[in-house]
Amino acid sequence: MTQGSCLCGACTYKTSATPKGPSMCHCSQCRAQSGGVWSSAYVPRSELIISGPVKWFASSPSARRGFCPECGSFLFWEAHDEDTTSFSLGSLSKPTGVTLEKHIFTADKGDYYTIADGLPQKD
Ligand SMILES: [Zn+2]
Ligand SMILES: [Zn+2]
Repeated sequence: MTQGSCLCGACTYKTSATPKGPSMCHCSQCRAQSGGVWSSAYVPRSELIISGPVKWFASSPSARRGFCPECGSFLFWEAHDEDTTSFSLGSLSKPTGVTLEKHIFTADKGDYYTIADGLPQKD
């Protein structure tokens, strides 16, 4: 079982599906919302059980972002044309069983840090 929660504990989630595509996103939206880069993995939407007062924000016409309205933790990302939900790796309980595979949207990364872990980078 993979499970996690926001910082204050009001919002929790769990899944028995195996998380796929663990990545670290450097896009400007993820950096603005998370305060840093946003690490996530995804599972089928139907296999993710979300509890608590998660609030959803339409960050673009094609996607929405879920966060805890109490503590502000950025927990979920969903594209309207996909049947998966991405959840933040930072909110996972240990042991996560997840290992980061790649960096994405690196062309949009901040200019205040360097990616130096040798993992694949996708623009
Ligand atoms: Zn919270
Ligand atoms: Zn992003």
